[in-house]
Parts: sequence; structure tokens; C-alpha cells
Amino acid sequence: MMKKSLFKLIISVALLSLFGVVFTQVYWVRNALYLKEEQFKGSVLIGMKSVLNQLILLHNDSTLKQLQSPDPCIIEKTHVTDVIRPDRLDSLMRLEMGCMKINKDYEYAIYNKRTGRFSMGSYGEDTDNLIHSEHQISISALFSPGDYYMTVYFPNQQAMILKQILGWMLLSAGFIVLVFLSFWYTVSTVFRQKKLSEMKTDFINNMTHEFKTPISTISLAAEMLMKPEVNQSADKVSRYASVVFDENNRLQKQVEQVLQIATIDKGEVKLKLRSVDIHRLLDKATEIFDLQINEKNGHIETRYQAEPGEISGDRMHLMNVFSNLIDNAIKYSDKPPVITISTESDRHGVYVHVADQGIGIATQNQHLIFKNLYRVHTGDRHDVKGFGLGLYYVKRLVELHQGNISVESEPGKGSRFTVFLPYINEHNPVSDE
Ligand code: ADP
Repeated sequence: MMKKSLFKLIISVALLSLFGVVFTQVYWVRNALYLKEEQFKGSVLIGMKSVLNQLILLHNDSTLKQLQSPDPCIIEKTHVTDVIRPDRLDSLMRLEMGCMKINKDYEYAIYNKRTGRFSMGSYGEDTDNLIHSEHQISISALFSPGDYYMTVYFPNQQAMILKQILGWMLLSAGFIVLVFLSFWYTVSTVFRQKKLSEMKTDFINNMTHEFKTPISTISLAAEMLMKPEVNQSADKVSRYASVVFDENNRLQKQVEQVLQIATIDKGEVKLKLRSVDIHRLLDKATEIFDLQINEKNGHIETRYQAEPGEISGDRMHLMNVFSNLIDNAIKYSDKPPVITISTESDRHGVYVHVADQGIGIATQNQHLIFKNLYRVHTGDRHDVKGFGLGLYYVKRLVELHQGNISVESEPGKGSRFTVFLPYINEHNPVSDE
């Protein structure tokens, strides 16, 4: 068995490494985003410069043509529209953006930075974005008067950049989630196994202890029976024989309980279904405990309201189910046991409540008590005997009857177990309602 501190150390190192991996991944993704952004800016700048160059070439061409024409009168170019034709700018822009695979998600303009006046372009109402855009170049090489700039703005710039690395980001996030899930699964499995192994050790210790007592009592009684002064007295023989008989019965019951669980786990339990009058069954179950309850100055109260009270079930197993619940109600009462057994019904089936005023069960343990071998730990004291098999058996059996079991409990006040058994189940599809 791995040492507890070593195990804790390994988990801490693994967790730390996991967080380290996440941190590095986040760092690289941020880095990649930054680089993509720079790359985007560079491409846009190259595109804008190319547009500007082509505009310069076109402008030079037209000036040359004009000079070669028969009437080369030089027109003074005082306005930016005299050197740039908006439709040409538009087609050049479209061409360059097309090269960057951007179709319509952009605005552009030629504007005067000093006056804030827009001369041409394609843009919406809000020109602020264009004025403050990071993609701007001066067009002074083409048109120097004033302070004219070509500006481009991408309303979805972030999304466009993100889209380029989204695949990688999702892949890395997916792997991180997978690693976390596997880590969580591994750790929880180890903890579950550890808990199970503790419960098994507890169970074996408990069982050895429980078996040892009747065995040594039987051996003592047998020893006495062999003594001539004892076996000559019929009275003494019968007394010791009854001790052997009782202890043997106890042992048999315990062995049966353990074996029964093995049968349930293998799925080998076959219910012998018959019509069962639940009230008569409960009366019989309480009778068994009458002596024990009287000895402890307690009492059992019954309140039967289920109508009809017949269900289809296995009498022997149902008897065990309710005996287990009553036995627990007595075992886990620190005062004289006061137990109420009540029934009610609806059109689906019968509800049997077994309530006690005992020690109760803390909320965090309530869903665990139905697990195999589970026992609520009361410190190191094992003053109440048991194997932790009872409620597991009860739950499995009730479920085999297509019913269910639940518990409400408050520590110090008591517990109330409710068993529901349906009128109609798979084995008895016809209701006798
Ligand atoms: P066992 O009684 O042999 O320990 P069970 O499966 O019958 O095993 O019960 C599991 C645990 O549930 C018990 O160890 C006990 O802590 C708790 N428990 C069961 N019934 C009651 C009850 N009526 N009141 C308080 N605790 C109970």
C-alpha cells in the first residue's frame, strides 16, 4: 500500500504540472494571437501601399497622356478627386482585400487628417473608427496639398484573427479538458478503491469478531456437555444444548447473510412471487422482535392504512427486508427503542414507513448507507454490531420487486425509511385493484 504522504505528494505534483501545462498553453495562445495580429497589420499595410503605388502609376499614365495630347494644357489639380477616381480606388481596394480573403468586412476612405473631411471611400455613419484606425498611410506621394491619408478599418478584425487560430485553440482546450477529466477519473478511482479496501478490512475484522464469539461459546458449551457431572443431569444437558443450538442459529444467520449478498451480486436471486398481504407480513416481522424490544423497555407501534394491502412479492425476502429495517431501528437507538411502522398507498403501490427515534444519520452519509459494506463510522468504537450488508440487501431486494427505498433522518432525532412496493410489476402485470 502506497504511503499516504507519498500519494498526496504525487497528486500535488501532478496537479501542479497540469496547471503548468494550462498556463503554458494560455501563454502560447496569447503569443500566437499577438503574432497573427502583427501579421495581419503587415499584410494590410502592404495591401494599402500596393493600392497607393497603383494609383500613382495610373495618375502618372494619365498625366503623360495629357501631355502627349494635341492640347496639353495643364489643368491644375487642386482637389484629391482630381488625382484619384473613387471607382478606381474601390476596385483596387477590392482587389487587395480579395488577396487577403476579405470580402466585405472592411471600410476605407481617403480623408484629410487636419480638417477631418472625408473625400471618398466606402464607409458607414460612424467615421470615428476610420479616423482612429491603426491602418493608415499618408498619400502625400500622390497628392501633397493638405494632409491626406488613406485609412482602412475592419469592424471584425479580432474575430477574423481569432478565426485563424480557433481550430488550434479548441484543439488545445479539448486536450486540456481531456487530461483534466482523466486525472480526475484516476484520482477518484484511487480514492474509491482506497475506501473500498478500508471497508473490506473493516468487514473482515468485524466478521472474524462476530464469528469468534458464537464459535467459542459453542466450544465451551460442548466442553461442558462432555463433562460427566454435566451430562448426567438432563436439566444441564438441555441448557447447554440450547446454548449450542441458539449460537449455531446465530452463526447460520450471519453466514447466510454474507452468502446472500454474494448471490445478489452474481444476479442469481430468483424471486418466488406470490400475493403477499403486507400487513400480515409486517405483523410477523414485528413479532420476532417483541422479546428484544420488551427487554429494552421500548415499543413498536403500527398504523396500517394501505388499501389494498396485497402486493406481488417474495415472502421470505420481504420478511428479511422489513426485519433488517426493524433490527436497525432497534440497534441504532440509544434510548429505549420507539418504533413506528405505518403503511399507506396510492394507485401505484404500497408505501411502508419504518421510523425510529434513534441516533439518526448525518445528511452526508444518507446516500452511502445503501452501499455494500458501508457503515457509518462512530470514531473507533464499534459498539453496534453489523457487517454493513443489511441496507444493501434491502435496497437490492426492493429494486428486484421494482420498488425503491429512501430515508429521511436527522442526527439525534431519528430516521424514517420508506419502502415503496408497486402493485404492478414486470412479474405481475395484472393489478388486482
Ligand atoms: P449494519 O447495520 O450491519 O452496519 P446496514 O447496511 O444495515 O449495516 O446499515 C448501514 C449503516 O447505516 C449502519 O452502519 C448505520 O450506521 C446506518 N443505519 C442503518 N439504519 C439506521 C437507523 N435506523 N438509524 C441510524 N443509523 C442507521
